Parts: sequence; C-alpha cells; structure tokens
Amino acid sequence: MPSPSPATPRIAIVGSGFAGIGMAIRLRQMGLESFTIYEAAGDIGGTWRDNTYPGAACDVPSHLYSFSFEPNPGWTSAYGPQAEILAYLKHCVRKYGLEPFVRCHARVAAARFDESRQVWRLEIEHGERAAHAAAGDDAVGATPGAAPALPTADAWTGRETIEADIVIAASGPLSRPALPRIAGLERFAGKLFHSARWDHDYSLDGKRIAVIGTGASAIQFVPQIQPRVTQLELFQRTAPWIMPKPDKPVSERAQWWFRHLPFTQRFVRGAIYWQLESRAIAFVVNPKLMKYPMKFGISYLERRVKDPALRAKLTPNYRLGCKRVLMSSDYYPALSQPNVDVVTSAIREIVADGIVTEDGIHHAADAIICGTGFQVNGVGAPFDVTGIGGADLGARWLRDGPEAYLGTSIADFPNFFMMAGPNTGLGHNSMIYMIESQVQYIADCLSELRRRGARTMNLRPDVQQAFNARLQEDMRRSVWASGCHSWYQTKSGKVTAIWPGFTFSFRKRTRRVRTHDYRFVR
Ligand SMILES: Cc1cc2nc3c(=O)[nH]c(=O)nc-3n(C[C@H](O)[C@H](O)[C@H](O)COP(=O)(O)OP(=O)(O)OC[C@H]3O[C@@H](n4cnc5c(N)ncnc54)[C@H](O)[C@@H]3O)c2cc1C
Repeated sequence: MPSPSPATPRIAIVGSGFAGIGMAIRLRQMGLESFTIYEAAGDIGGTWRDNTYPGAACDVPSHLYSFSFEPNPGWTSAYGPQAEILAYLKHCVRKYGLEPFVRCHARVAAARFDESRQVWRLEIEHGERAAHAAAGDDAVGATPGAAPALPTADAWTGRETIEADIVIAASGPLSRPALPRIAGLERFAGKLFHSARWDHDYSLDGKRIAVIGTGASAIQFVPQIQPRVTQLELFQRTAPWIMPKPDKPVSERAQWWFRHLPFTQRFVRGAIYWQLESRAIAFVVNPKLMKYPMKFGISYLERRVKDPALRAKLTPNYRLGCKRVLMSSDYYPALSQPNVDVVTSAIREIVADGIVTEDGIHHAADAIICGTGFQVNGVGAPFDVTGIGGADLGARWLRDGPEAYLGTSIADFPNFFMMAGPNTGLGHNSMIYMIESQVQYIADCLSELRRRGARTMNLRPDVQQAFNARLQEDMRRSVWASGCHSWYQTKSGKVTAIWPGFTFSFRKRTRRVRTHDYRFVR
C-alpha cells in the first residue's frame, strides 16, 4: 500500500462484490487512491461470481438491482441472470479503473487494531480459494449448533501482514456457504456440492438427485435441473411462500430508449423502487396486511398444483414475509412433474448411497445438492477482528448476536466500517440501495476524519446500545417477529439480519455522519 499521510489514509477494502466495488468507485471520485481491495477468490464479483447454479438470477428487478450512478440499458430481462450481473460488475471495475487496486487470491484472515499507533494490522493469506465442489470458506468462528462450513479445499500458501488506517469490511452477508448439520454427511460416496459452489463438470443427466433445502437458490435451480434428471427428491423442512415472478425479456426497443433517452430508465427505476418500497408497510408497520398477499399466494399454489397431497406439503405454515418471500413461476410446475418427489419427513442421516429419513425410508441418490444457504448467525465475525483493549468482534457477536450501528460502525473498533453489516438486509427491496447508503456514510466519515485532521474515529458505546435497543423495539412489531424461525435470527430469536424500516429512512440516517456519535483521536 502507498505510504500514509493525513490526506491519503491507507484503506483496505475486504471483498469485491457490489459493496467493495461501490465503495472503491466512491473513493476514487473523492480523489483517494491509497486503497487496495483484497479478494479471497480468484476474480471479482462476490455473490455473482460464486452463484453460478442453473437459473441463478436476481429477484429484484435489474433496473434497481444495480448502481444508481451506473444504469445498464442492456439488461436483457427484467430480472437479470447471474452472467449479466457479473458482466455488469466487471464493466464497473473497468470503467472506473479499479483493476490496479484489486488483489485477488488474498484473503484477509485477521485484523488487529494497534492502539499505540492507531492503525490496523491485517493478516493476509495468499493462495487459491478452490473453485467449487468441496471448496469452501473457512469456518471462522463456527460454533456447535451453527451450520457448518464446507470442508475446505482452499490452499493458502503464503501470509503477509500489512498496515491500514481504515478497514472497510465488504466481505458479504451471504458469502460463506453453509452445509446442513446432518449426521453422516461425510460418509456420502456420491457427488455432493453446495449451490454456491456448483460443479459444472458433473453431469446431472440421467442421475438420481437429492436436493436439500427449499430457499431462494433451490427454487431457482430445481426447475432448471428437473427435466435433465431421472429422479429428483426435494428435502423440504419448511414450505416457502412462492409468488409468481413477473420476469420478461426487455425488448430491443426498450433497450434503445434506455440507451438514448436515459431519463426513461431512471423513471422505470424510480417506479420499481416505490412499488417495492410500498411493501414495507406490511413488513414493518402492519404485518396483518400480509393476509392479502397470503390469500393470493395460496390461490396461486392452488392454481399451479392440482395434486391435493402435494399441495398440502407445499402450503406454508407461517406468516408471509417472516422468511424471505420467493419468486418463481416455474417452481410449482416443476414439482408437479412425475420424476419429482417432495420429501417432508426430516432427514435422520446420510449414508454412502443416499439419505435416510426419520420414517425409516432410504432415498438412493447419485448426487446431493445442498441449497442450504449461508452462514449468517452463530458464526461470529466474517474474519478475526480485534479492537481496542483486545475486544474480540467474533466472540461478541457469538454472545450477543451480530450488532453494529447503522450496520456500519462498531464501538471499540475505530476506523473499522462494515458494509451490508448487521440489520441492513431487506425482505422487500434492493440491497444495492442499502449499500449505496453505506457508501455515502463511510465517505462522509472519511471526509470528517480529513476535515478534523483526526487519525481515528470510534463509535460511542451508548450510541450503539441506544440504536440497537430502538431497532429491536421496532423489530417487535414487524413481520419478522411473527413467530417463524429463519436465518435472519440468532438461536434466541433476535433478528440481526434485517432492517426493520423503510429503506429511505436508512438513507436519511446515513446521509451525514453525526459527529457527536463518535470520539475522534488526533
Ligand atoms: C444467490 C443470491 C441471490 C441474491 N439475490 C439478491 C437480489 O435479487 N436482490 C438483493 O437485494 N440481494 C440479493 N442477494 C444478496 C446479495 O448478497 C447482495 O445483494 C449483494 O450482492 C451483497 O454484496 P456484497 O458486496 O456485500 O457481498 P458479496 O457479493 O458476497 O461479496 C463479498 C466478497 O468478499 C469476499 N470475501 C469474503 N471474505 C473475505 C476475506 N476474509 N478476505 C477477502 N475477501 C473476502 C468474497 O469472496 C466476495 O467476493 C442475493 C444473494 C445470493 C447469495
């Protein structure tokens, strides 16, 4: 990293997904070039580099699931597929000249704050994060009871320590795939992989496939693989709410308008934003309003699934919105096909040639695909982070659940900023909107440091406490507190992943840093 000076703090960005890239673009716009993006994998892209499973696409319309300052007139469908989103991110890296700032195969293993010198010391591991199959992330902070990480095939061959004045952890809320806690998983002799590490070299044609999980990824890839396999058994713990996905190609004429008359795309983006944002009323203000979309969801299920036994299995038993609402127009039709069986008996164990359920039935399988989501709660910090007085972020989060201020700052961790951190996730709108809000906030923090000639800023603990007390109070009236259990929550039921409000109120809170929230050190 370039040598420090008050005007050019050394900035380490951890991760090259939407958040890391968005932040880096802003730094360059501020005239700051003294930063490096450390990326554990071999390429940029985060979520959209890792999730290459068949059918992978966003479930927020692409005009909104993209940076506001970099519209893409060329989206070919309303909900862009993975390859287009990844291409978009690469375009951003090129256009904003970020290539020289990115270091791939560089995993930040630990960040320790050196109080005497007011700087961060980062341990960087170099090497290969394996691409798929048995590859995975390390199980940093994994605890008994938490979803296990994938067995690692990563080969970190070197280590170096660097110094940074500012750390921006953009390591992703959903970047650590989780395997299910099932006895015998390691005994399976067939092919086993996670949806976020899809093994494209393995042919599914004519195989007996077991899919574990019915979350946002599974509902996208199941309809894609169903026609190719001999038999597909879908192991479901909870029936998700499914809404039809209003996806359609973007016509060439519309693309022409967006390209030549950019205000038309801005108008469409705004309309999508407000349409999605209006849903927050049911999510956070009056969850009873969910009864209307629930009626619609049930009637959609009835129209798509004619078999009453299958319909009963697919009928959700919790209030819509409490877990992520899923959108798919081909999931129910796929499950109605003769080569598909939805298994609702709990899994007892995995054996060499398949899965045994609690009812004693043995389900033979050539391959098991885990659509079992990501490590979010109960796994500590994204990497080892030590702040003032030896404060251990992972231990703190294991004890209390992930907690921050505006999902960004954490008391005792000066100049350490998180992106897409605790309680910034959404059930109703685009994460890119939240990420851009955080970019603005962090940029304002950096400007404030510069303006004051200060070396560090540390959040006041009472500010963090009051913020989170209020946040959990707001959460209580939201749909996420309506009784289901989801990855949004810790084991004790505390919702730590979701923002319990309107996204525009988050934007308002993050527009300017309130300087009295922090202690500045010169
Ligand atoms: C399949 C899928 C579909 C989704 N669809 C939507 C959607 O439609 N709408 C929506 O709003 N959100 C969606 N999301 C949520 C999505 O994660 C966010 O929208 C957004 O992409 C997060 O960006 P990010 O940069 O914060 O994290 P990521 O994209 O996860 O990027 C984090 C990066 O950090 C790197 N990294 C992690 N740890 C380290 C380390 N220690 N050292 C170095 N590098 C590290 C990772 O390799 C990764 O490249 C989806 C998520 C998934 C998994």
